[in-house]
Amino acid sequence: MNDVSRGGSPVHRRSKAGHRWEGVDCLPYKEDEQARFKAISRQVLFSDPVLAAELRFFEVAPGGFSSLERHQHAHAVLVLHGHGQCLIGREVRRLEPHDLVTVPPWTWHQFRAASDASLGFLCMVNVDRDRPQLPSQEDLTDLQADPSIAAFLGALSHDGVDRVEDTKSKETRGLDLVTSRRDGRRFFGKRPRS
Ligand code: MN
Repeated sequence: MNDVSRGGSPVHRRSKAGHRWEGVDCLPYKEDEQARFKAISRQVLFSDPVLAAELRFFEVAPGGFSSLERHQHAHAVLVLHGHGQCLIGREVRRLEPHDLVTVPPWTWHQFRAASDASLGFLCMVNVDRDRPQLPSQEDLTDLQADPSIAAFLGALSHDGVDRVEDTKSKETRGLDLVTSRRDGRRFFGKRPRS
């Protein structure tokens, strides 16, 4: 162990190529199997008992997205590289490097990389935090009532299948919010022929 470490993190860890850092593991985005997300990794950069916050770095591959969720705890986000969009509450915003995004408590949020670019962002979060809440069908219907949110969510498709390619726009627009018969999850997809 580094003799100048305190609480867990050595005082200096060098950056490596490709938005990686010495001594920092590249982890799955989250373990929650109920949440719908795609092509996203997580690195915990700072997690120290003397701090009330953690700082993570998320990298979303082209066409990937974080889960749509809300919770009591808050996020403070700094975009480091790439392009994409976010939904914060009822606002869809385009994201560029060095933009700052605040996610207040109990605000629906989702981050999405562009179809042709990755999106990397730092996210500060409370150490003590509640479990994220996922949208019910009613919540999704309510969000989709806003055309800009519907477009944002529709482009994402919550089943993890890449439907970002919009050349088949009829099919893309034809996606419905469906409930999986296997596990009861809700996602945007084709209704099963029954
Ligand atoms: Mn969150």
